[in-house]
Amino acid sequence: MKLKLNIQPLNTWLNTNNEPLIISGPCSAETEEQLLTTAHLLAETGKVSVLRAGIWKPRTRPGEFEGIGSIGLEWLKRAKAETGLPTAVEVANAKHVEEALAAGVDILWIGARSTVNPFTVQEIADALKGVDIPVLVKNPVNPDLQLWIGALERINGAGITKLGAIHRGFSSFEKSSFRNEPMWELAIQLKTLCPELPIINDPSHICGNRELIPYISQKALDLDMQGLMIESHLDPSVAWTDAKQQVTPAALSELVDRLTVREPES
Ligand code: PEP
Ligand code: MN
Repeated sequence: MKLKLNIQPLNTWLNTNNEPLIISGPCSAETEEQLLTTAHLLAETGKVSVLRAGIWKPRTRPGEFEGIGSIGLEWLKRAKAETGLPTAVEVANAKHVEEALAAGVDILWIGARSTVNPFTVQEIADALKGVDIPVLVKNPVNPDLQLWIGALERINGAGITKLGAIHRGFSSFEKSSFRNEPMWELAIQLKTLCPELPIINDPSHICGNRELIPYISQKALDLDMQGLMIESHLDPSVAWTDAKQQVTPAALSELVDRLTVREPES
């Protein structure tokens, strides 16, 4: 079986300088100052191509911080104006899509808890009809390749050709050193079915802690993934979400410097 998607190569819609694409920024936008300071520090490293920030946060249990909401779009707009970095946010329904588009967000991503639900993905796809914007689809929380493929097909079916996948690992009942098992074979199968589909790795949500991120990042590049999405925060220890897995902009810069990129085979 081949997966037929109509896709534009990543380097035609994002300038990655032929390096792996690095997307970074906080798990959650918390305050304007936190987002802007982090964005400036990331931009100064010269290694980040896209600023990410969650403003609508799908929390597994109620009673936790569920994102700063629409006001975060204004902060992202300002971060982009001041740093020149294109911005990316997670969208989980049609209203999020409409607000993000109206605010000039550059890239949308679909989170792992949304990819599992075809109704949700279709609602997002319908809101994207006639729109030309890059969309990245995270794998579903559970190791189901068909759900991941189905979500990519729905978004592509809406006419989105600047399309990529994000491999963020899979929930497992088994205890492991990882927050989400990488189960690399699923990403490899997706690549085999559709070689033109860019796959970006998210070592932050795979690892769940800072320490393992360099190892998973290198492994992803060794498997020819085209980029990394790594959460960063000016002071990870006080982050409102995912504190254990965020890195400072300085640590991110060091981590990127240590990565080895294989020369493409000629
Ligand atoms: C996130 O990127 O902060 C996030 C909520 O990720 P995921 O959908 O992979 O859990
Ligand atoms: Mn997160």
